[in-house]
Amino acid sequence: MHELSLVERLIDMMEQTAREQSFQRIRGIHLEVGSLAGVEVDALRFALDLATPGTLAEGAAIHIETPTGTARCQACEREIERISLHEPCPHCGSHRLKITGGDCLLLKHLEVE
Ligand SMILES: [Zn+2]
Repeated sequence: MHELSLVERLIDMMEQTAREQSFQRIRGIHLEVGSLAGVEVDALRFALDLATPGTLAEGAAIHIETPTGTARCQACEREIERISLHEPCPHCGSHRLKITGGDCLLLKHLEVE
């Protein structure tokens, strides 16, 4: 499962941050997962539940924001505020879209102690 390897990377990042900022526990994890990031939010939560026991993020509350994807149509040059993968431009039907947002997974903030 692709989400599990993402979570392993997230835990590595959190452990590295914990060493740099010398905190012991993570109480809350705030993530942003764009709707075009190719990540299933439910699968990500499930993977976090599986992977965090025994780490400093054990029992942390998980908050996930899911901003919608945005794009710019290269045919009619309009901005599109909500777009799903493989959907054409709602204005002209073109598939020549350039994704401008909502395509990444970010670790935004950690609540620590
Ligand atoms: Zn268009």
